[in-house]
Amino acid sequence: MALLEINGISKVYGGQGPGGVTALHAVDLCIEAGEYVAVMGPSGSGKTTLLSILGAMSTPSVGSLMIDGIDVYSLSQERQADLRREYLGFVFQGLELVPYLTALENVMLPLAILKEKRKQERALEALERVGIDERKARRVPAELSGGEQGRVAIARAIVNDPPIIMADEPVGSLDSATGRQILDLLRELADEGRAVVMVTHNPESTQDVDRIIRIRDGRVEEDAHLLRVEAHPMASLHTR
Ligand code: ADP
Ligand code: MG
Repeated sequence: MALLEINGISKVYGGQGPGGVTALHAVDLCIEAGEYVAVMGPSGSGKTTLLSILGAMSTPSVGSLMIDGIDVYSLSQERQADLRREYLGFVFQGLELVPYLTALENVMLPLAILKEKRKQERALEALERVGIDERKARRVPAELSGGEQGRVAIARAIVNDPPIIMADEPVGSLDSATGRQILDLLRELADEGRAVVMVTHNPESTQDVDRIIRIRDGRVEEDAHLLRVEAHPMASLHTR
């Protein structure tokens, strides 16, 4: 059973009548635990729409979404919200850190239901995991570099320890060395057995992914599973 599965997903913005924009046309996809997937395609092709539907952030016009075998849209709104919190972490396009909250407070945001002290501990752990120490955790985003802000956004996405991470152009605005560190972190998260789905424009960002899904005009144009030599069990046998 796939961790994430969509079947026959279409998305029309602005109603079915004239003036409606069909952003996705009958898309089927399965994504497994441990897969690091890049979604590529021209601007306006439907990448963000696809990511938001895979992440149960946007309701499809037609079609189903299964997360870990659970039919998301058969659940009540409240249970859908619980499922999102348990299963999904998001790194939004532009990172979307709250400018007047510290890094620590930004990372605590998804931890709505815990006690304050426990929230802080969890958030500091997640920040440490991405290389942000407690001193930097007390700063607001404007007092951090672009790369550090990217790390904070990833810490916020993993603080609930979700099995699925969605990242929309996570290195869009970063220089290539800083971007590489963020991409390496995403690779690590997939190697731990999480599914990581990343939207990117940049072919350089896809060098460590397992799979590239290309979309055009709301359709999957190509779905390529790549063989990563390091990840292949035979490769380690040969070097022994
Ligand atoms: P991408 O992320 O690949 O640039 P999007 O998924 O954002 O593409 O958009 C796909 C299509 O849907 C585009 O034609 C876009 O204009 C349209 N679209 C996206 N979001 C909305 C919205 N909220 N309302 C109306 N149209 C939208
Ligand atoms: Mg987009």
